[in-house]
Parts: sequence; C-alpha cells; structure tokens
Amino acid sequence: MNSFEAAPADRVRRLSDNLAAVRERVEAACSRLDRSPDDVRLVVVTKTYPPGDVAALAALGVRDVGENRDQEASAKAAALSGQALTWHFIGQVQTNKARSVAAYADVVHSVDRPALVAALSRARTSAAPDRPLRCLVQVSLDGDPARGGVTEDRLPVIAEAIVAAPGLELAGVMAVAPLGVPAGEAFAALPRLSAAVRALEPAAVWISAGMSGDLEEALAWGATHLRVGSAILGHRVRVQ
Ligand SMILES: *Cc1c(COP(=O)(O)O)cnc(C)c1O
Repeated sequence: MNSFEAAPADRVRRLSDNLAAVRERVEAACSRLDRSPDDVRLVVVTKTYPPGDVAALAALGVRDVGENRDQEASAKAAALSGQALTWHFIGQVQTNKARSVAAYADVVHSVDRPALVAALSRARTSAAPDRPLRCLVQVSLDGDPARGGVTEDRLPVIAEAIVAAPGLELAGVMAVAPLGVPAGEAFAALPRLSAAVRALEPAAVWISAGMSGDLEEALAWGATHLRVGSAILGHRVRVQ
C-alpha cells in the first residue's frame, strides 16, 4: 500500500532518541520558565528527508510536520495522506505556487505580502471552502525583508488582509532569528508583535519561533510553535 520505503530500524531508533532529547529540552525550558509544555507545539521540520522518516515520526507521536519547498512538500503530503498529520508550510511561497500549497497545507507560516494573501484565499476557497487555511504573518526581526517577512510597520496591513480574506484564518506571527544577532535579543520583539496582531484578531495567539539552535530563547519570549529540523532528523546535506 505504501508508496514509499519505510525507514530502517536503526534510523527509527535515531529519530526516537533525537525526538526524546528535543522534548526534554522543551520540558526543561518550560519548567525554568514556569510555562506548561502542553502550550507548546513541536513542528518537526522534515525538509530534504524522505517520507519514510515522516511516517516513522508519526508513529513516534509527531502530529505536526514542516516543509519549505512546494514540490517536495506536495509529494510527501500525497504519499502520507493516510497519516493524521498537520502540514505546516514554513518557506517563502511564490504567488504562482499558492494554489498548490493551499491544496495540502493546513498552516502557512510565511505570509508576508497582500498578493500572496489574495492568491491563497482564492485557492483555498476553491480547494477546501469549509476548512480555512491558517496563516501566520512572517515578521522580519532585523528589518531586512530579503529573507522573507514584513517589517513591523507593515504587520497590521498584512494581518488585516488575512482577517478579511475568505478561506483564510489569521493564527498569529512567525519569525526566524536573524543572523549575527543573539536570538534572545531578536526574539524580545515577539510579545509586542504578537500583541499587535491580537489587537486585530484576539484568537491569533500563535507565535512560531525557535529552531534547533534557539528554541530555549524562543520559549523565553513566548513561542507557542517551535520549528525543529536538524536536532531531530540530522544535519541536512542541501543548504536551506
Ligand atoms: C529549516 C527551517 C527550520 C528548521 O531549522 P533547524 O535549524 O534544522 O531546526 C525552521 N524554520 C524555517 C523557516 C526553516 O526553513
């Protein structure tokens, strides 16, 4: 039945150990911060890794997976359609890929321009009219939008566009720590950015921040969704 190769036993063991270690990091950080680990979702970033790894992770209790390239993500989502997984699209979305992404993604973390809001809205209302696509506004923490994300002054414009768009649901904000600045300093803006979005949509409480190297700092500044790849799957060969 499966249209992919299952991960070998030693790979499953490695994934299981790594996943346990990351969950321990999350629990230790939450305990230091007096936060409940139940309020944190671990999105396991499976980009570049095969569907067999994703199936193994699902069997280990992972429910949320993240991908950043449409072609790879759509193939994996199709191969794993029998699994109860939530698919998070975390990479930049070209407007001409919106139709494809809206067909399999449950959440898009990287919404950063009105043209993309319009394209996702059109695509989702025709693909799944009764199941809104959750969208996060990606915010640039260093004011340099080259790596995706809006500057703080543009945040309300994009957030309002999502709220107004049929087929979309504003879920919160997303950020990637900029290079060359301590992550904790950059993430200090997150509570303010989140509050700006919640002022427009009180239900938009998600804060997607924190990766393998900086999840503790992100949790300290209120992250609700961690996007962790290499600490669980290993170092990627392809540069992302
Ligand atoms: C690849 C990626 C991650 C995961 O990064 P790791 O350092 O492997 O944990 C998180 N967020 C985004 C946007 C990514 O592209």
